[in-house]
Amino acid sequence: MRRGIAVSPGVAIGTAYVIHDIFVNPETKRLEDSEITAELASYETARDRASAELRTLEKKVESQVGRNEASIFAIHQQILRDPAFTNKIRAWICEDRMAADAALHRLLGEYTQLFAKTQDEYLKERLNDVRDVIIRLCGHLVSTNQADLSHLSGPLIVVTNDLLPSQAVALGNIEVAGIVTQVGSQTGHAAIIARSRGIPAVAGIKGVMRTVKTGDTIVVDGRDGHVEVNPPAETLSAFRKLEREFVDLKDKLAENRDHPAVTACGTSLHLHANINGVTDAKAATAMGATGVGLFRTEYLYLTHQDVPDEDEQFQAYCQIIENSPQNHVTIRTLDIGGDKALSYLGKDYHEANPFMGWRSIRISFSHPEFFNTQLRAILRAAAEFPNGNVRIMFPMVTTFEEIRKLRGFVRKAHKDLAARKIKTRDIPVGMMLEVPAAAITIESLLSQVDFVSVGSNDLIQYLMAADRDNPKVNYLCQPLSPAVLRILAQVIDACNRARKPITVCGEMAGQPKTFLLLLGMGLRRFSMSPAFVPSIKQIAGQVSINEAEQILKSAMNFRETAQVTRFMARQIEQLAPSLAMLDI
Ligand code: PEP
Ligand code: MG
Repeated sequence: MRRGIAVSPGVAIGTAYVIHDIFVNPETKRLEDSEITAELASYETARDRASAELRTLEKKVESQVGRNEASIFAIHQQILRDPAFTNKIRAWICEDRMAADAALHRLLGEYTQLFAKTQDEYLKERLNDVRDVIIRLCGHLVSTNQADLSHLSGPLIVVTNDLLPSQAVALGNIEVAGIVTQVGSQTGHAAIIARSRGIPAVAGIKGVMRTVKTGDTIVVDGRDGHVEVNPPAETLSAFRKLEREFVDLKDKLAENRDHPAVTACGTSLHLHANINGVTDAKAATAMGATGVGLFRTEYLYLTHQDVPDEDEQFQAYCQIIENSPQNHVTIRTLDIGGDKALSYLGKDYHEANPFMGWRSIRISFSHPEFFNTQLRAILRAAAEFPNGNVRIMFPMVTTFEEIRKLRGFVRKAHKDLAARKIKTRDIPVGMMLEVPAAAITIESLLSQVDFVSVGSNDLIQYLMAADRDNPKVNYLCQPLSPAVLRILAQVIDACNRARKPITVCGEMAGQPKTFLLLLGMGLRRFSMSPAFVPSIKQIAGQVSINEAEQILKSAMNFRETAQVTRFMARQIEQLAPSLAMLDI
């Protein structure tokens, strides 16, 4: 039994599918004579594809972002064409009978040793470029040698180092029952993807890829974060029972999809969904959400093979709006940086503290034309749905000056479209509240926005000065900590007094314990992973506003997070015992 971090609730049993990452576990077997030619051919195909991709990337980045940003891809093409690079790989495949990915891994090791000796920062940066080229090549090798899953039966449990957005897209066609990752946290990519699909997941199990093989039987317990590999028959049958209960509970809850979200005293709530793409938009509709409270557009960029231009974005946004409940979508502009990097936006710029650094609208401000393209695409898409409700939302707003500047960007995008004779209309413009500075000055910021959405995942990490993805300190990132509860109560109160709609769209909106407290604070709009909408609707129906206010009052008396957590666990146990399985 291995213990990690519970990141998406529920229990799943399935066959392990280990997705190797070249840096973690390259192929070690020696090739047979008969396999060498095919391996060389795979490598050449991967190289051709990587090269074509880099050429397109260079051209598109030059036109969409700028000449400087594109130059990095010219350097990557030079590396790919370097005869020393390719000759070594070919020789190792033919003479040492190595698989292509193992040869690439060996080459990276050689370069790393070589570069370790230099003090020259410029040369050190080039090592990152070599690494990038090797990753790109490996990506194509995997797609060339598409893993054959036909011998694996039943639902699969994906085991990987970290689930990247591009891998998640590739997994779209397989029945994934559970996810286990070596790294990651409650708010990392893998967690967000797993929760949005309602798949049980556990993150942060060190070394799991060394101990688990594809084909092993795995149990994922996303309630308390543990994983069992090839467990004995009795353990397996106990988990099968739990798995059935989890599936039954999900099915039963999904029956409430057409019921309105109201509290026991009849107060209506807005339960919206957080989505990353069209699949999630459909899930939001299927789960009974009444709108999309957060569409994370960065996934469009992260999964696009180069840079999405205005038309591509326009089409993608239209598709999202079309598939979302009531065509109601809050589109968040690009939130890149922190844990998510785009190769063409300053990847060569090293930061000691990426979460505190060049991230989100700060990057957008540095690339005005690129930012403008996104805004134009959003405004065009909104105009296609005059009966929908499309809104623009800006992430990581910190100061009054920023929000004024952002408004100026929206005005310019309207003007540019008008000059092209494209009709647009005014749509609501809102901010995410994720930085304590914005929480403190919320009253003045409210004059510049139509709505607010609290990104509690970030707000918590900035408030607690603890990186949400750093396992050594992220124990501090607790939504139930007294400091977090106080700041949220103040912000919700300020927005309610100013009659500005406020939503919480961080993970806490979809967790029963925190949902109850937010309800007690006066919050009526919640946005969460689609899979959580039914359980939150269920719990909302069990509690009156008055009761939620009383629960909040008691919770606010505790000084320690653990006391609040125990107290809230008891409340959930009393109100809706069956939902405890879905609470993490
Ligand atoms: C948040 O910070 O709470 C949020 C919803 O944004 P993200 O998790 O995408 O940073
Ligand atoms: Mg955020």
